[in-house]
Amino acid sequence: MPRENRFWRFSYDTGLELAEEKLGRLAPGWVRCRVLRVQPSVTELMMVKGVFQTVGEAQVHRYLGHEFLAEVVQLSPGAPSHLLHERVVCAPRVPCGACEQCRRGRHWACTALFRVGVDSGGAMSETIDLPAAHVVVVPTDVSDLDAGCAQPAASAVANLLHIGLRPGARVLILGQGTMGLLLLQAALAFGAAEVVTTAPRATIRDLSLSLGALDSLAPDDPELAARVAAFAPELVIDAAGGSAAVGLSGTTTLRQAIEFVEPYGTVLAISDLISPVELPPSARTKAIRLVFGQMGYYYGAYPLALGMLRDGRLSCRPIVTHQLEGLEALPAALEVMAERSKSGAIQVQLVLVPERRAAGPRGGPGARSTPGGGSDSATGGVSSGARRRPAPRPLSERLS
Ligand SMILES: [Zn+2]
Repeated sequence: MPRENRFWRFSYDTGLELAEEKLGRLAPGWVRCRVLRVQPSVTELMMVKGVFQTVGEAQVHRYLGHEFLAEVVQLSPGAPSHLLHERVVCAPRVPCGACEQCRRGRHWACTALFRVGVDSGGAMSETIDLPAAHVVVVPTDVSDLDAGCAQPAASAVANLLHIGLRPGARVLILGQGTMGLLLLQAALAFGAAEVVTTAPRATIRDLSLSLGALDSLAPDDPELAARVAAFAPELVIDAAGGSAAVGLSGTTTLRQAIEFVEPYGTVLAISDLISPVELPPSARTKAIRLVFGQMGYYYGAYPLALGMLRDGRLSCRPIVTHQLEGLEALPAALEVMAERSKSGAIQVQLVLVPERRAAGPRGGPGARSTPGGGSDSATGGVSSGARRRPAPRPLSERLS
């Protein structure tokens, strides 16, 4: 049973700090979990880089880490015994489901909302305590790597459910980071007819094609506007916006999405908005629907996302380009993410405990393990995402 815990904490005054604490008594109905994997999010990178501070937001979480996989190692009285030794994930925010607001269906106004890193410690930590009622058990044949991506996977799934993706839709995704690549896979799984993507890096455009994109273009391709106009997307997703300080596009891609979308179409903005957005007049004249992404209400999508990771409709294996060993590697992981045009990174994971289980049915032994034994294996490559979809023809051919 763990008695002490090491964890990362952050404040603008002291910066990142690896701290240690004695573990207290486990609250009734909670489970104590050993963190197996955790990955820094873009939001956390922005926070550590001081982005929220410069825009005057006090959006500082003392405890870092909400994208993680953990193993239940201890039960409190009242926690179901079947959870012991299970691998679990937990959404960053879960409404209680029992307060008056929740019973009225107003989950956003929950008076007993559970927040990872606020009402518990964070997952950038050796140990995390969680309410048993809020953890989701990971199916045995989902790899540790895939389960470590459950949070962005659930977010991608929830966002497409939120907008009501029409089967047969033509979708344009601006940006192919972790979220953009998961949205690509989820859109195809939900019946999108064709998905076109944009990404600055050629290696990522290749990965996007291997994951089923019809075409993937550079954002500065002079042909982009004409090719997108011919494609006529009814849904455009801005998955590239966010602070320029961490290499994102600001609000440029959101305005671009509004220009690109077909009249009566939908623009989905999933990025962190940190500055006011000026809408182009075409937003009105085209009568578009502008939807902002799910922030905290995708907890219900976790079981579906895990099921899709299990059967291969979603895969994070080609997205997690870097696996670094140990909790101490967080500063290095953040640098790899910040310097991703040099490092080739898409998603970086910290491996606190090497994966023990045998590979699942999807690839045979070795298919899920990290080349070289599971630690510090910056694969850098992005070619491992082969899917069963046929290689698509370039858009230019199809439009000729
Ligand atoms: Zn509630």
